[in-house]
Amino acid sequence: MKKKTFPRGIHPPGGKEWTADKAIEVLPPPEKVYIPLHQHFGQPAQPLVKKGDTILRGQKIGKAPALFSADVHASVSGKVLAVDGHPHPLGKPVLAVTIANDGQDSSSDEEEIPDPFSLSPEEIIRRVKEAGIVGLGGAAFPTAVKLAPPADKPIDTIIINGCECEPFLTSDYRLMKEYPEEIISGAELIRLATNAKQIIISVEDNKEDAAELLASKIQEKHIFVEVLTTKYPQGAEKNLILALLKREVPRGGLPFDVGVVVQNVGTTKAIWEAVRFGRPLYQRVITVSGSGIPEPKNLLVRIGTPLQTVIDFCGGLKEGVNCLIMGGPMMGITQWNLEAPIIKGTSGLLAWSLPPASQVFDCIRCGRCVEHCPMGLTPTQLAKYIQFGFWDEAEAWGVLDCVECGCCQYSCPAAIPLVQWIRLGKATISALKRKTV
Ligand code: SF4
Ligand code: SF4
Repeated sequence: MKKKTFPRGIHPPGGKEWTADKAIEVLPPPEKVYIPLHQHFGQPAQPLVKKGDTILRGQKIGKAPALFSADVHASVSGKVLAVDGHPHPLGKPVLAVTIANDGQDSSSDEEEIPDPFSLSPEEIIRRVKEAGIVGLGGAAFPTAVKLAPPADKPIDTIIINGCECEPFLTSDYRLMKEYPEEIISGAELIRLATNAKQIIISVEDNKEDAAELLASKIQEKHIFVEVLTTKYPQGAEKNLILALLKREVPRGGLPFDVGVVVQNVGTTKAIWEAVRFGRPLYQRVITVSGSGIPEPKNLLVRIGTPLQTVIDFCGGLKEGVNCLIMGGPMMGITQWNLEAPIIKGTSGLLAWSLPPASQVFDCIRCGRCVEHCPMGLTPTQLAKYIQFGFWDEAEAWGVLDCVECGCCQYSCPAAIPLVQWIRLGKATISALKRKTV
């Protein structure tokens, strides 16, 4: 039977064989962690601790000041050395809590719930919010917000996203292989929180063994595993909903506009741990890979661990490495400082020795960027409008619908930095809108 997928997209080399068979290893907590108070979509958390405080692992050290924000927790026990600016993987330094690890790993009290499935939706969502959970696929959107859509947007389907379509990343694959029961239980909690009818766990066909394992553990009739064609960006929410349910999220809309909540498998496991064990989000699984890493691995890492510590654990950087990316090669962010820490949204760390950037040529109107754009946009035209400052035209042609997947730039024979132009356009249009409000 033909497997489901979405229109357009690309087939970049997978590279997953480098780490797919590497079981998750625990990276020992470092001597110092640097925990940014802004690691999520929305406003930064406000500090709850000060220099000299003694704190426990799992203690709340930053409080969300608004709905679109997330609490932040200590990832080790010890003493607060500073609450000040520190390099951040997304660019400029942000306020961070530096903790000297006392090596005790003493934890704050965690309230276990023996039967979490008996909790009310409100209590499930409260526990998710208290744990500071955000989307672990990379977007870091506050999960409690996603679990509480407006009353006039009923949810019928939960999609658990195990596609992990970015090349080289295998952290979600390892989670599905090593923690299938926890993922299924977390999915059921999401269903109970949203009052949905069914759960679809979606996995690409380059991970069929994980799909089979998950399917073998399912006991409820309302949970299904669906194997999709391996194609990038299959895991983007709108593509996933279209492929699985043939529902199109409207322009500027969100999955709940079509009755759906999508959660990544790592987030789903974190939800289980938060609700069942009262465990805050202070660690996550990442893939460390690329030609510049001597020993590629999948690692369970404490939030706030410096990139240097992670790289050292994987054998250091090989000579000639000139590119370090946080996330996958398609949508990841180039790193500039090895003191920057692992944050909640870090799915991977990839190191490469790349040749000098290729020359940029004029557009030859080949149409490949249009042919591959999963959002049905016209990237070449958008880039032109943005270059010349035609903001209204760029918006009318749908620039704000761009998910920054990079398919256009990957396909462009003229090596035009289409995504950079589009990002600039999106940021400028958003800033102009804020000014006029
Ligand atoms: S225009 Fe945006 S959504 Fe379309 S291919 Fe380019 S980056 Fe992806
Ligand atoms: S792929 Fe590149 S060269 Fe071809 S139309 Fe798009 S921008 Fe122009």
